[in-house]
Amino acid sequence: MGKRGAKPKFTDVFCPNKECKFYGISGKGNIIGNGTYQIKDKRVRKYICRECGRVFNDRTNTFFDNVRKDESVIILALKMAIKGMSIQAIADVLEVQPATVSNWLFRAAKQCEKVNEDLMKDPNISKVEMDELWVIVEKKLPPRTENEDEGTWMWVSFAPEFRLIIDFILGPRKQYVADELIKTTDKHLSDSKPLFVTDGLKFYAEAFLKKYGEWMEFPRTGKKGRPKKPAIIPDENLKYAQVVKNKKGKKLQKVEKRVIFGENIDQSEISTSLLERQNLTFRQDNNRVSRKTIGFSKKIRFLYNQMRLYCTHFNFCRDHMGLKKEKENGSIEKNTPAKKYGITKSKWTLTKLLNYRCIKISTN
Ligand SMILES: [Zn+2]
Repeated sequence: MGKRGAKPKFTDVFCPNKECKFYGISGKGNIIGNGTYQIKDKRVRKYICRECGRVFNDRTNTFFDNVRKDESVIILALKMAIKGMSIQAIADVLEVQPATVSNWLFRAAKQCEKVNEDLMKDPNISKVEMDELWVIVEKKLPPRTENEDEGTWMWVSFAPEFRLIIDFILGPRKQYVADELIKTTDKHLSDSKPLFVTDGLKFYAEAFLKKYGEWMEFPRTGKKGRPKKPAIIPDENLKYAQVVKNKKGKKLQKVEKRVIFGENIDQSEISTSLLERQNLTFRQDNNRVSRKTIGFSKKIRFLYNQMRLYCTHFNFCRDHMGLKKEKENGSIEKNTPAKKYGITKSKWTLTKLLNYRCIKISTN
């Protein structure tokens, strides 16, 4: 055997070719090394799949696919974005074009979408809190009511036991956005439905019915009178409750807990306080995003990319204060939401998040 020792086996690398028999499966011995190439700050390994002949490398299907700029500069730019800095400010600091920063943020959001699609599924979540957080695009905070308004809100679904942001939607407080949030959240859930808790906004109940309800026709009873009209009946496993805060001016008068669908719901479970606390953190972390004066739709796009990166980073790359635990030997165990939730083994760096090789490859 030569100086260089045995050839490494690439047992943790999988073929990215969707048509290949071993697509997305590692450890089949079909991947062989095909040399490396040097980019500015690292070496990239190249591979061939012996099964289908596909040539690819470490960066295929990651954020860095065909990106030439130094990783370190990009990571720095995205860290600034996570801290709520505007694209212009980041571009100024790093002496690059704003369009370049924008493009990195767009790619980062795409990478985060793929990571979420790959990993954020089939969990065992017992409770989901949902809330709408007013953001950032307009200057004045609109008064919060139980009715619809046109402002821009970040609708969030959150698993309090893991402090995990399940997903979010940006949009006004309107029925169709509530529908979208429920649909989007459901994609991440397993068949055993959690308890859902929201505020008193009227759109949620209808959105839950649309997603988890069934049209029922009532058979004629043979008695006199009109037959009962068909109606939507909620799925028998659906549990949904509301926390309604009655305010007089700014003062909280009374907190009312209402069970909307389902039975045997523990009163103490009906709260959204963990998500409300989380919303304060979101606001603190992102308050600088608001200062930009760019066009509205551009703002929404930027905001979406920024929040997608922020939320994924929040789940995978940040130890959460609320998940700290003292172990028996006195040492402190820290957890990211994703680790607590069991989909990762350790806290990820942003670099690892961006280099994660996704199986799911979205086409748009
Ligand atoms: Zn292959």
